[in-house]
Amino acid sequence: MKTTVIGYPRVGSLRELKFAVEKYFKNTLTKGDLKKTAAELRKKHWNDQKRSGIDYISSNDFSFYDNLLDTAILLNAVPKRYKQLGIDSLDEYFAMARGYQGEKGDVKALAMKKWFNTNYHYMEAEIEDEADISLVGTKPFDEFIEAKKYGIETKPVIIGAFTFLKLARFTGEKTAKDFTSNVINAYIDILKKFDTLGAQWVQFDEPGFVMDLSEEDISLINKVYSAILSNKGSVKVLLQTYFGDIRDCYREIIALPFDGIGLDFLEGKKSLELVKKNGFPDNKILFAGVINGKNIWRNNYANTVCLVGELRKYCNNIILSTSCSLLHVPYTLSNESKLADDYKRHFAFAEEKLMELFELKNILSINDPMLTDEYIKNEKLFNGTRNCGDSAVQTAVYALSQNDFVRMPAFGEREKIQKEEFNLPLLPTTTIGSFPQTAEVKANRSSYKSGKISFDQYTAFNKDKIAECIALQEKIGLDVLVHGEFERNDMVEYFGEKLDGYIFTEKAWVQSYGTRCVKPPVVWGDVSRSQPMTIDYSVYAQSLTTKYVKGMLTGPVTILNWSFTREDISLKDCAFQLALAIRHEVLDLEANGIKIIQIDEAALREKLLLRKSDWHEDYLDWAIPAFRLVHSGVKPETQIHTHMCYSEFSDIIKNIEDMDADAITFEAARSALGIVETLNVFGFKTEVGPGVYDIHSPRIPSVSEIKEALFEMLEKIPKGKLWVNPDCGLKTRENKETVPSLENVVAATKEVRKNLYV
Ligand code: GLN
Ligand code: ZN
Repeated sequence: MKTTVIGYPRVGSLRELKFAVEKYFKNTLTKGDLKKTAAELRKKHWNDQKRSGIDYISSNDFSFYDNLLDTAILLNAVPKRYKQLGIDSLDEYFAMARGYQGEKGDVKALAMKKWFNTNYHYMEAEIEDEADISLVGTKPFDEFIEAKKYGIETKPVIIGAFTFLKLARFTGEKTAKDFTSNVINAYIDILKKFDTLGAQWVQFDEPGFVMDLSEEDISLINKVYSAILSNKGSVKVLLQTYFGDIRDCYREIIALPFDGIGLDFLEGKKSLELVKKNGFPDNKILFAGVINGKNIWRNNYANTVCLVGELRKYCNNIILSTSCSLLHVPYTLSNESKLADDYKRHFAFAEEKLMELFELKNILSINDPMLTDEYIKNEKLFNGTRNCGDSAVQTAVYALSQNDFVRMPAFGEREKIQKEEFNLPLLPTTTIGSFPQTAEVKANRSSYKSGKISFDQYTAFNKDKIAECIALQEKIGLDVLVHGEFERNDMVEYFGEKLDGYIFTEKAWVQSYGTRCVKPPVVWGDVSRSQPMTIDYSVYAQSLTTKYVKGMLTGPVTILNWSFTREDISLKDCAFQLALAIRHEVLDLEANGIKIIQIDEAALREKLLLRKSDWHEDYLDWAIPAFRLVHSGVKPETQIHTHMCYSEFSDIIKNIEDMDADAITFEAARSALGIVETLNVFGFKTEVGPGVYDIHSPRIPSVSEIKEALFEMLEKIPKGKLWVNPDCGLKTRENKETVPSLENVVAATKEVRKNLYV
């Protein structure tokens, strides 16, 4: 039995790549040094896998920003606006990733999308009618050769042709069909090139196969792969799927001449059943995804041995693999010096997962796996207790009744009451919550964490920042203010640290997009709130101004989705526990005079299953009630806002309305306001603030472009329901970008308002 991993984390165990790229952005690191850091990291990551005994190690899983972007560039899908800048290829790459504003021009970035159910944002390839799709890049080949120099024969990984076409945005008249033959030829060229380089295996990642597939999709898959595979030379092709099962195309896939097929047996609830029902061809290798690439709990060897035992009845040839790329888990437990061993022994990060693969390979290679030391030790771990229950929490969840999920009075009546209460101008301006987390803000937090300064000193600094932020917002002329979130490292980690039932890591970073990494807290046991979490800072901020300052919380579904969750209770139970905890905070804020409370659900959509038919039962039917539970107890005149970090909600628009918030702000700036149309068609009642500019980019939006966006929105949204705001929090931006951007937002709004009052 052999082992492999689908992909390995690339930012480095201490986020070395992130820091290098950010320095490069700030012009404090040269291109040469950036490339050197990248090469060192690749070398280390390959060697770590080799040392752990992984048999098939991936290459081209490295990326300076995102693999989909890499693939677009590899295939020459570079929109004209970037080519016209006439800048060096790496800078052009970063221009596509984050926009460019400088002497060569002013262009927006490509859109970012969370296509699948993780917190990872992919870039969206844009294909123009004139695009000449063909193999033009060399990155996968360069990295293959580079690894070979270190004596490591890798299995290059490339996003597959179907997923690439499926996720691309076609900006002109042409559609995927018009580019299919070019794409096929490009992939044939990729295989040819690897053939000449002597690669044994090439892995095509096709997560697109686990989504709902139409007949047309399936015939596209057939067409693309029949053509590619009939030209593959002597390279073996692994079709790798993940994030679910391939129930819509399993039979077609096993009939195609792939040499290996990778299936996810963890999230792919039907994967085993598909194999059992349809069999698995003798001449192919099954790459069995049995090690969880998304969660950090140790693998239960008894379950895995049993699963592989079942699979062996149908497949002669099995290679043990991860369920998806290990990109979605932190690098190594060995950096966690503060976490007690009693906790640690329950976890496996990327490096420890390599060890698990190695142990499982040994266990499964002998006739009586249950007699091996590794198996026995693992069994003991799972048979022991974790001491993580809290009966009061369980009772409270059990006692919930229908009424706890309904806010009174109904929205329409509340809207009237609140209009009178707040008396805001038309198109009230606001922000999403955070202000720039400058170096001094971060330094204050780390000085406190390392014990260099006292709690009082730490708090005093934050309060000064709050005062500064309130003064700045008043000066800019925003209508509804925020305190700035200077005390928050991250919108989820902050609450995780305050809630009982959570544990935290020090260095367990996971890439979210580009250079942004998050450190998801870990739900260890039953969750509850034993102390106020945000009251002090919110009350202080409100005391400084006569304008309203929003109380700022993260909602239960987002906390859940951005935490590493338990595997011993259901997500629904965990969400309700979190909802009760946040509900106490909401009521406490209200009791302390905070009139507008924003409960962010940035990640509400994230764990939505990839197939529509699975949505309700497993997700929406408890996720939306969890949100309602949080705010159903407030007074009619307390205004509840929520914020969502994406614009893909046309298909769950009814569920979003059912959250019964009073106002919703969301990302829209990068997605061409498509959502506004959806709101209009649906007759959305909740007040809305579609972002008027993109905060993921350093560029400053002009007054005229904001005005234009607002006028466009006003065609579809009643003026009494429209809020004006950036599309997300400002924490990743700098003050020099934030201040002029917000000034332009206010100036544009004032001009637009003039047209509305007459
Ligand atoms: N209130 C948060 C902030 O402004 C929301 C962040 C987010 O949506 N990701 O930072
Ligand atoms: Zn957001």
